[in-house]
Amino acid sequence: MPRPEAELLEIIKSLKASVRELKNWGIKDFINSPRPPVSAFAPPAPAAEPSPPVAADTRELFPGLAPKISSRPAGPAFQSLEEIQEFLKDCSRCRLSEKRNRLVFGVGNPRAEILFVGEGPGHDEDLKGEPFVGKAGQLLDKILAAINLTRRDVYIANIVKCRPPENRVPLPDEVETCRPFLAAQIFCINPRLTVSLGAPATNALLGNKQPITQIRGKFQTYRLPRPGQPDWKGIILPTYHPAFLLRSPGRKRESWEDFKALREELDHPGSKTGNNPVKI
Ligand code: URA
Repeated sequence: MPRPEAELLEIIKSLKASVRELKNWGIKDFINSPRPPVSAFAPPAPAAEPSPPVAADTRELFPGLAPKISSRPAGPAFQSLEEIQEFLKDCSRCRLSEKRNRLVFGVGNPRAEILFVGEGPGHDEDLKGEPFVGKAGQLLDKILAAINLTRRDVYIANIVKCRPPENRVPLPDEVETCRPFLAAQIFCINPRLTVSLGAPATNALLGNKQPITQIRGKFQTYRLPRPGQPDWKGIILPTYHPAFLLRSPGRKRESWEDFKALREELDHPGSKTGNNPVKI
C-alpha cells in the first residue's frame, strides 16, 4: 500500500509542474484571479453557473436587425459549444455553403475571458477549418504574444462561418443567417471582453455602421437579446483587422494602443471601462 507521505509528495510535484506550466504560458496571477485562465494542458472546469440554454432565433436575438428571416422558427436550445457545432455540421442555410470546403466554427478556450471576432474565413481557414491560420492569423498570434496571451487563452470566431468567395465582405443576409450561431457561442463562452476585428465584425455586433477608424480603441457595452431571459451584456473593444494591418502597417501603432488598453483592462478590470464595468 503506498504511504500517505509518498502520495502527498506526488501531489505537490504535480502541483509544482502545473504552476511551472502556467508561468510558461505567461499566466502569473492565477492564484488570486477570480476567473483563472485555462491553461493548455488542463481540460476546462465546468462553469460555476452554466449559461442557460439559448435559442437560435435571429428575430429574438436581434430584434429589428433581422427582418429577412424573422419568420424562421426558433432553433433548439444549446448547452455547449459542441452542441452548436454539431447542430451546424452540414449547414446549408446560406449560399456560402455552396463553395466552402470546411465550415470554420471557432477555436480556443471555451471559458475564455476574451473573445476575438473576425469577418469570415479566408482561403487557408477554409482548407483547415480553423479561424485565423493564414497570414492575418500569424499576425494575430504575434499581437497576442505581445500582450502575454496565446490563442489557447482566448476564443476566436467569425461573423460568418463559411468563406465568402474571393474573400469578399459577407453580405448582410449571410451575416443575418449566421448571427444567431455566433450569439449562441457568445452566450456559452460568456466572455468578459470581446475584441471585434475590423468594421464588418464590429458593425455586426454593435448593429451600427460607424467606420472602424472612429470607434476603434473605444470600449463599449453591447447587448444580445436572449429569448425569455434578460439581455446578455458584454464589453466590446473594436480594433483593426490584422489583414488591414498587413496592408497598412502604418496603422499598427494605433492597434498597439488598443491591445495595450486590452491588457490593462484585463489586469485591472474597470480601469479602461470606467468605474462601473459590466458585471457578467
Ligand atoms: N480573416 C478573418 O476575418 N477571419 C479569419 O478566420 C481569417 C481571416
